[in-house]
Amino acid sequence: MGRSEVIQLILSRERVQGIKRTKRLAEVFGELVFTKEVMRRYLSESAMRAFEAWEHGEPISEALADEIANAMQQWALSHGATHYTHWFLPLTGLTAEKHDAFYDFIEGKPLSGFNGSELLQQEPDASSLPSGGLRSTFEARGYTAWDPSSPAFIYGNTLCIPSVYVSYNGDALDYKTPLLRSIEVIDKAATRLASLFYRGITHVKVTLGPEQEYFLIDEAFFAQRPDLIMAGRTVIGAPPARGQQLEDHYFGSIPERVRLFMEELEWEAYRLGIPLKTRHNEVAPSQFECAPIFEELNVSVDHNQLLMDLMDRIARKHHFRVLFHEKPFAGINGSGKHNNWSLITNTGKNLFEPGKTSRDNLCFLSFLACTLKAIYEHADLLRASIASAGNDYRLGANEAPPAIISVFLGEEINRILQEIEEKSIQSQIHPKVPMRLRLSKIPSVLRDNTDRNRTSPFAFTGNKFELRAVGASANNASAMIVLNTIVADAIETFLERVEQRRKEGKRKGEAILETIREFIIESKPIRFDGDNYSEAWKQEAKRRGLPNIESTPEALLAYTTDKAIKLFTKHDVLTERELKARRDILLERYVKTIQLEARILGEMALNQVIPAALRYQNDLAQTVQNLKNAGLEQEANVHIALIKEITQHVQAIKSLVEELIATRKRWNQEQDIVKKAMGYRKEVFPFLEVIRKHCDRLEQIVDDSYWPLPKYREMLFIR
Ligand code: ADP
Ligand code: MG
Repeated sequence: MGRSEVIQLILSRERVQGIKRTKRLAEVFGELVFTKEVMRRYLSESAMRAFEAWEHGEPISEALADEIANAMQQWALSHGATHYTHWFLPLTGLTAEKHDAFYDFIEGKPLSGFNGSELLQQEPDASSLPSGGLRSTFEARGYTAWDPSSPAFIYGNTLCIPSVYVSYNGDALDYKTPLLRSIEVIDKAATRLASLFYRGITHVKVTLGPEQEYFLIDEAFFAQRPDLIMAGRTVIGAPPARGQQLEDHYFGSIPERVRLFMEELEWEAYRLGIPLKTRHNEVAPSQFECAPIFEELNVSVDHNQLLMDLMDRIARKHHFRVLFHEKPFAGINGSGKHNNWSLITNTGKNLFEPGKTSRDNLCFLSFLACTLKAIYEHADLLRASIASAGNDYRLGANEAPPAIISVFLGEEINRILQEIEEKSIQSQIHPKVPMRLRLSKIPSVLRDNTDRNRTSPFAFTGNKFELRAVGASANNASAMIVLNTIVADAIETFLERVEQRRKEGKRKGEAILETIREFIIESKPIRFDGDNYSEAWKQEAKRRGLPNIESTPEALLAYTTDKAIKLFTKHDVLTERELKARRDILLERYVKTIQLEARILGEMALNQVIPAALRYQNDLAQTVQNLKNAGLEQEANVHIALIKEITQHVQAIKSLVEELIATRKRWNQEQDIVKKAMGYRKEVFPFLEVIRKHCDRLEQIVDDSYWPLPKYREMLFIR
């Protein structure tokens, strides 16, 4: 199909109507989830009590597992499920599952095949999943184990049981294992700190509300772009005349076809218990965002992974493809996943919410100071946790937070920290202050105590922090593991210092305030409220000694510094072996990504771009011949110049692609993964940009009707 036929097809598509909402939301919300209410219906009273005891730290017995497995099966069968699977989050960044039927067949007769031991543990044949050497062939076993803290759900016709994934030796091969460990670590530390201020605190939960950005393009365009199919991003494509200079897309009305997709997505998400709340257009054309209401971190991570899968499925139904790549279109705004992160006590207190009393605020400031200190000390780790080949295109591309990690606090909080530093506290923290609108008909709007800064990678937004540097395709757990661990570590240091001061005879309040002050001073360079996109900030950050790590291979090295190993082993979140394996898996993934992009670019340049250019060149040559035959020698010159320009680009592409292949081959010989990834970054990666430039120039001069690839303006504006 030619490009113009593709456009015709898209324009004449019939709208796919979403599902009809016959029931009320309250009836369908979570109907596909094995919630505690469902458990209560299916389990005996004693089993339910035993499960609740597990929530308070008791182990789960075989007998209890059997009863729960049976309950899950009954419930799932009543919803038409035929299979079950342990559902887990391997380091590919995707979700993995291996489906088993609910019935074993013995001599042709079905036999119920789901019991407690199968619920508790499975051994998927997942030898092709990355293990970073943690599973050598002689111990090629990996196990998945049930995570009872994230409820099972039905997806398609399969009962999915959230699980961790570990090697034979118990090494973590996934994101969930260290995430759960990091949640325990921060729970313990934060409970101790909060207990300095309040009674009755037994637990602190981490909350996450992830905002998910994505692009939607028509599947017919997608099918015509080998780069989107293979790499999820366009490796060539000239910028459209109308990009986002006109920022009218942002908060503009949602196109009808997209709205139908969103409605169906929301409905299906609700059935799975995912509390999607907002939907709107994003900055770039064809870019959108959705955000759920925040939930407990572990469940929120699972929900985001599930949501991405659901988005992909439903988009296809509407003849769209959803793109989660951090930078699918060069020169156009990229996609991130803003991680709104906070801590909440078992008594319902948000620990990052400034309060009314001075006790509340001392507590708030303690947690704030610990967070600042954590980010300052371990900015390199946070950077590593968000590193990927895709996110490299986005970070620092003048429309996303730079690779320099800093913290935005806003004027009011900064003033208070300043006063603490200078020992002259006068200000009060106003949680929310009425804003004078001078519009008599509109009730006063409560203004957050922070103004908005959309350029900061890590911003305080009134009662939570927002980590904006996470890439749209990432598993949120990666950044959250680091954030939890480093903040927990800072809290422990904080508590030690408070205790020390108490021993020296200081009163409690004094000891706490002095420690806050110390932390504020020690972490001061990490605070920045200005424009993070500016060149001036880069210079300033350098003066402050903040790391500016631009590429993924460099960033990932932070995982295996002595400092990182000490930190993660101290808190038992990741062992040295696990850290190294993780780093190597991610380096490997980086190499593979660049390799794939390089390959696909080479193919497209040789098979699609050059042939189109030559066809046009042929036409031009014919024109020159005709002009000359008619005696118009002079007039032919302009066409000859064009022929020459095309030739130059074609030649350049040919020789650059050859060089690229040779360079790739050379680096493929390298056995050391660190060196290999660095080599790919320094020597292979730059080819992508130069080759692309020649291709994009050709796109701009070659006859439009010869161009085989859907153009940016078409993919972004036609639906
Ligand atoms: P925006 O940042 O676009 O203005 P909102 O302020 O509406 O968006 O919130 C964005 C996300 O932050 C939502 O997912 C919301 O649920 C989440 N959020 C709000 N409070 C908390 C909290 N205490 N902990 C974690 N996430 C939170
Ligand atoms: Mg936000």
